[in-house]
Amino acid sequence: MNRAPVQKADSPLVSRNPADPDDIVVELHGCGPDTVTGAVHRASRARTEWLAAGAGARSAALRRAGDAVEAASEELAGLLVREVGKPLTEARGELARTAAIWRYYAQHPYDATGAVHEPASGPGLLLTRRRPHGVAGLITPWNFPLAIPSWKAAPALAAGNAVLLKPAPEATACALRLAEVLGQALPEDLLRVVPGGADVGARLVGVADVVSFTGSTAVGADVARAAVARGVPVQAEMGGHNAAVVLPDADPERAAADIAVAIAGYAGQKCTATRRVIAVGGALPPLREALAEALRGLPARAPHAAATVCGPVISQAALDRVAGARDGALRSGARALAGAGARRPGPATGWYTDPVLLENVPAHHELHRRETFGPLAVLSGAADLDDAVRAANSTPYGLVTSLHTGDLDVALAVLDRLTTGMLRVNAPTTGVDFHLPFGGEKESGIGMREQGRAAMDFYTSSRTVSLLPAGSA
Ligand code: NAD
Repeated sequence: MNRAPVQKADSPLVSRNPADPDDIVVELHGCGPDTVTGAVHRASRARTEWLAAGAGARSAALRRAGDAVEAASEELAGLLVREVGKPLTEARGELARTAAIWRYYAQHPYDATGAVHEPASGPGLLLTRRRPHGVAGLITPWNFPLAIPSWKAAPALAAGNAVLLKPAPEATACALRLAEVLGQALPEDLLRVVPGGADVGARLVGVADVVSFTGSTAVGADVARAAVARGVPVQAEMGGHNAAVVLPDADPERAAADIAVAIAGYAGQKCTATRRVIAVGGALPPLREALAEALRGLPARAPHAAATVCGPVISQAALDRVAGARDGALRSGARALAGAGARRPGPATGWYTDPVLLENVPAHHELHRRETFGPLAVLSGAADLDDAVRAANSTPYGLVTSLHTGDLDVALAVLDRLTTGMLRVNAPTTGVDFHLPFGGEKESGIGMREQGRAAMDFYTSSRTVSLLPAGSA
């Protein structure tokens, strides 16, 4: 597992445009320990008033937050393209989703927060009531710098918490601008960004009342351990090594089109990207041809062009990792069906790699088990459906699987046998419904699911109240 290097407190954060690394998007010093502690105190005070203001005030503010995001959409989409290399069409999609998330959670302050029960014996009432934790510490990755902070912050705030957000250094400018935009709708100090690297993240885990993390599995496991040691609720959404399973009855062209976008979209830098393609029986020959052709039709291009699907990867290190994984696999006997060469189109200095599809990767190879987090996938065959299910489940991760078939009976039969938190039938592994629970099994997820109604439960805890007539106990 890759471990993120610990950033020294006094080393500056530099985020660069992946399409033009000479373009420095932001350079600043991360928060020191006093800044994080001070932010927690201010957030705590703001949160007391926020909770006291009542459900109506919270709902109205979250609705205004959605409006503010929508009003700033084009500017924020441009910043996504520039800072994290997200293709423009996807960036606009992330903005639409971000506004929808804030509006969706604007309904939730009015939710029932508990229930009334009969005592097992005697008079009185038993009540349950969910209460917010206090200050939520959110630690986020760079790949969805607006949607992920929003799908954590909006339910946390709806439930009556305050929020401190520690974004990935590569997406610092996006986080700071998002907070400014949301600040038009939210009370001062209720949502603040604490920029920095691993040290600031660790500091936040040491002081927050509830911790929500998204990022790599190695870091997520450390964050979860640290939060548990403090007795603080924690959720961690982590990596994925997602499979697309294609049955012989599937239309190979259609399956290939869906899978190619899931491999190459945003240069494979989504936790839900397809990294393994498993073709059952006779599905393999037509799929091989259709998928290789579909991927060759999605070369890496400049992210600001509306037609771009595969933009640059986030850094030189990411580029080296993808090229290293491909070359290592080729040396061990694999064959490249797409992306064999090191062609890097677009601006000469950008971090570009074309999508790579490999076949005949030896069974023991790491590429069958661990994510590379780039536009690289492995194609293999399975003798039958059981073999395919076994192969799909054979990684330490369990985020999402796609199944491509015209046979709904088969799809239903396979549902319970796949050990992933999400299953998508005749759809790419990528794609998220913002109002439904999102998350994975095994090393892909620790704790409760994000998004939807489930998030409201995570950002609150239940109190049980026994209410008896005076003098009856
Ligand atoms: P990362 O784990 O390197 O960093 C994630 C965040 O954790 C960053 O803000 C980072 O600064 C912070 N951090 C690093 N070390 C820390 C520490 N010791 N204590 C506290 N915080 C620390 O991940 P990344 O490179 O930003 O993102 C890519 C990863 O995120 C991939 O593995 C991808 O699969 C995963 N991801 C998962 C989901 C999901 O919902 N399952 C969504 C998006 C990305």
